[in-house]
Amino acid sequence: MEAGTRSQLEALGIDPRKSLGQNFLVHSADAERIAAAVDATPDDAVIEIGPGIGALTRPLLQRAGAVIAIELDPRLVEVLRSTLGGTPSLTVVHADALTVDFAALLAQHAPTARQVRFAANLPYYITSAAIRKMLESGLPWRKLVVTVQLEVAQRMTAKPGEMSLMSVSAQFYGIPALITRLGAGAFHPPPGVDSAVIAVTPHPAPLYDDPAALFALARAGFGQKRKQLINTLSAGTGLSKIDTAELLLRAHIDPSRRPETLSIAEWIALAAAQKAYRPPE
Ligand code: SAM
Repeated sequence: MEAGTRSQLEALGIDPRKSLGQNFLVHSADAERIAAAVDATPDDAVIEIGPGIGALTRPLLQRAGAVIAIELDPRLVEVLRSTLGGTPSLTVVHADALTVDFAALLAQHAPTARQVRFAANLPYYITSAAIRKMLESGLPWRKLVVTVQLEVAQRMTAKPGEMSLMSVSAQFYGIPALITRLGAGAFHPPPGVDSAVIAVTPHPAPLYDDPAALFALARAGFGQKRKQLINTLSAGTGLSKIDTAELLLRAHIDPSRRPETLSIAEWIALAAAQKAYRPPE
């Protein structure tokens, strides 16, 4: 691929669209490394978001039983279908990854797959929504490997003190690990910032049985930056400050703490306390 990405695109008459977050991988060694982190077997289906001209799709196909590649740009769908269309284990889907039904695609195109893995060099403009959709898919996923802006990678792997909604989301569903950093030169055209590859391995069992309630609280908690939890939670949930303080104390959390300091275990304790709490009449 080395010299090839740019000339390949030129030969195909494709000018990368910034509005679609099109920064194509240049080095096959990087694509190999990402595919190795996905770690798919012939029993697995891989859902790839944004395959582009197939840089990552190719090494994925060498490992996985099936690859379902979801691409929004019709020009790239056509390229993929003409270059890789003869590969029986590949399905190229022309769709928006944010609205398409992953479970339906799997049932239709990889009905015998035992497990699913996600892979994506994500277009920056859908990063958070796409990661959330994959994490919350409810599918039996075994690995999620994404190339994202370095700042997003840092948020996914942040520790208490620097947590954000993205950190809570990534770490509630699994254990995110940095695979490698990629400089701007790893892509064509080069983006304005460095990137990183993150692999999330799911926890062996769900950490809490009501993620929707936990994330409603977390969204409320992170609703206002740099404010104390008693204020952000009260504003976001509609509970009085007295009830909010009571709730936090029951979860053994000091009401004056800030949302970025809470661990996943503390968000779980807070959600559990809320479930059990009946404000006095
Ligand atoms: N995987 C290729 C690579 O690594 O060279 C391309 C990665 S590029 C950063 C992002 C890709 O996502 C582009 O092919 C772009 O057209 C596609 N894309 C953008 N928005 C999308 C969406 N909503 N759903 C699916 N694909 C999308």
